[in-house]
Amino acid sequence: MDREPPARPSWQAAPCPPWCVVTHREDDPPADRRHESAAQSLPVTLAGDSPAELFVALSRLEHEPVEWVFVGQAEIGGQHLHVSRESAHRLAQALLDLSGASIHRDL
Ligand SMILES: [Zn+2]
Repeated sequence: MDREPPARPSWQAAPCPPWCVVTHREDDPPADRRHESAAQSLPVTLAGDSPAELFVALSRLEHEPVEWVFVGQAEIGGQHLHVSRESAHRLAQALLDLSGASIHRDL
């Protein structure tokens, strides 16, 4: 027995990317018509030694080809970055380089 693909809202031109976990609805406002991955939670220490939780997730607006990596706090207006995948790779490498340099300096 063949299974039918899940129904998509009329505004969604193509199936979701494989990483999308959003259930899209016909009445989603245009600004919310985006694909989003599951978020990874990272405990961090911010300046001033305050503990915080950052989230990392991938997103793409339905009508745009560019995927964005979000790194930031869950609260609206919280500290965050929204960078392209290529920029995320450069940022990750810079963080690795700096953390490695710091480890060597501290030894
Ligand atoms: Zn989606």
